[in-house]
Amino acid sequence: MSRTIPYGRQAIDEDDIEAVVQVLRSDFLTQGPAVPAFERAVAAHCGARHAVAVNSATSALHLACMALGVGPGDIVWTSPVTFVASANCALYCGARIDFVDVDPETGNLSVDALAAKLAEARRHNRLPKVVIPVHLCGRSCDMARIHALGLEYGFRIVEDASHAIGAIHEGGPVGDGRYSDITVFSFHPVKIITSGEGGMAVTRDAALARSMDRLRSHGITRDPAEMTQAPDGPWYYQQIELGYNYRLTDLHAALGFAQLRRIEAFIAARHRVAARYAKALEGLPLHLPPEVTDGRSALHLYPIRLSAPLSRRQVFEGLRQRGIGVNVHYIPVYLQPYYAAMGFQPGHCPNAERYYAAAISLPMYATLSESDQAWVVAALKEVLA
Ligand SMILES: *Cc1c(COP(=O)(O)O)cnc(C)c1O
Repeated sequence: MSRTIPYGRQAIDEDDIEAVVQVLRSDFLTQGPAVPAFERAVAAHCGARHAVAVNSATSALHLACMALGVGPGDIVWTSPVTFVASANCALYCGARIDFVDVDPETGNLSVDALAAKLAEARRHNRLPKVVIPVHLCGRSCDMARIHALGLEYGFRIVEDASHAIGAIHEGGPVGDGRYSDITVFSFHPVKIITSGEGGMAVTRDAALARSMDRLRSHGITRDPAEMTQAPDGPWYYQQIELGYNYRLTDLHAALGFAQLRRIEAFIAARHRVAARYAKALEGLPLHLPPEVTDGRSALHLYPIRLSAPLSRRQVFEGLRQRGIGVNVHYIPVYLQPYYAAMGFQPGHCPNAERYYAAAISLPMYATLSESDQAWVVAALKEVLA
């Protein structure tokens, strides 16, 4: 029987299953104790003060933008080498979006490009309200410099750390909020840990956390201090703004909590996979992901980039034909038809387009076996031969 080795997948064990079953047998499938337990555990893990669990990282990005007051007339900047959700969150708020070109090696938002674009934007009075750096593949962006630019130009920062829970940057965990206002994690099954669907926003700022907490549940409050009048009675609640139902269920939270306990083992396993790739692929006409020297990548993805003149399509199709579920991360967001219709043109971020043209994500996940990985390597060598 032929099978495909996927580019990413979850690692579920009996403890995970038992954790979900326990919730099923309990009184609360949602709005019970599993959600705050998961929030406290993630906050403790990444050194954040506050955590707000939601049903996806997409929802978390939306709430982060809302909590920071993004609205019509505002501009948000992000990286083009990302999933569309990093940019869509600004559009949900009625803001405009623009893209900052990336570092050609890491694919992360280029701080030099950001600095140049900010200087230009200041001249035209079009500075961004929020910048959303994306920690591509689990490698942190250069947050100290982005933070310094934020102070100079007055923008707020949301880290899209959908790939990067468990990553370490300059001696501290991604999510501790040293360099940003809010950090967002994803728990989709291909990410580092999973809750099925799910996401979380972490922050040092109690007011931002409170705002996201209210917005994930319709904009409703039960806190008399937030109401416009004294409560009618103990049943009373008020809707004081327009929120959503972005809540995470207790089933999902219990799975996420159980997974978080194994995050160190997951990341260590990913690093073993990367080390084996680095050794096995040495000498081939490829750029391998550059090492992180000031911390640790969470290694969500393992993108190789082909050296010219190899055809990316040929290599991609050759690998797919051999049962390797390779993928490409990412099509620059502004090239999507929805964004092109706003006026974005090819050539807007040349490094992003070059990165896209050469990239192929090889299978990378904690349970990738040595024999499956050897199969990936053999297939790649065959296709490149
Ligand atoms: C996966 C991902 C998202 C969206 O996460 P969901 O939890 O699926 O909503 C956002 N940004 C990036 C960079 C991602 O990889």
